[in-house]
Amino acid sequence: MPEDYEVLIKRCYQCGTCTGACPSAKITGTFNPRKLIAYMLLGSTERVVSDDVIWLCTACHACVERCPELVYPAEVLFQLKNVATSNGKFPAGLKEEAMQIFTTGTTVALSSPIERRRKKLGLPEFPEVNVDEIQKIMELTGIDKKLEFNGTTLKEQKDEEEEKQ
Ligand code: SF4
Ligand code: SF4
Repeated sequence: MPEDYEVLIKRCYQCGTCTGACPSAKITGTFNPRKLIAYMLLGSTERVVSDDVIWLCTACHACVERCPELVYPAEVLFQLKNVATSNGKFPAGLKEEAMQIFTTGTTVALSSPIERRRKKLGLPEFPEVNVDEIQKIMELTGIDKKLEFNGTTLKEQKDEEEEKQ
């Protein structure tokens, strides 16, 4: 289990291998894990946490595979995203995705076109999802509260939406 990001970044000697391997850096041109770690080493962690650019990390772990100093840049980014989320700063899409998982147990709602395509590809029928279990996990792990929006948890929002229908 990697250490806290404060410990991890101290091992970075700014070689840039992580950025060289990072697909997000290549595509966006604005995301640069080496630079973010440099800012943190210079004492600007708060600025990095509040910068939306951290959400451009796709958690592909290419940097983790290549970093010669075991800094685990993807893990550093994970921890920064957790801090940002605890501060209530996360992309709107994240909340929508969490709500989708909370209500259906899947990241993408199963639809007839998807079912048809699965059949065409010879894939088995999609197994039934135990949504109650997923909701329980999300509540017990605190995700429900972490993604609280305007003081409303995912569960409260779902109940509100159901009441309106
Ligand atoms: S690859 Fe590792 S040591 Fe090199 S800049 Fe990235 S985090 Fe730092
Ligand atoms: S995990 Fe994030 S920082 Fe690392 S290579 Fe993938 S997108 Fe880049």
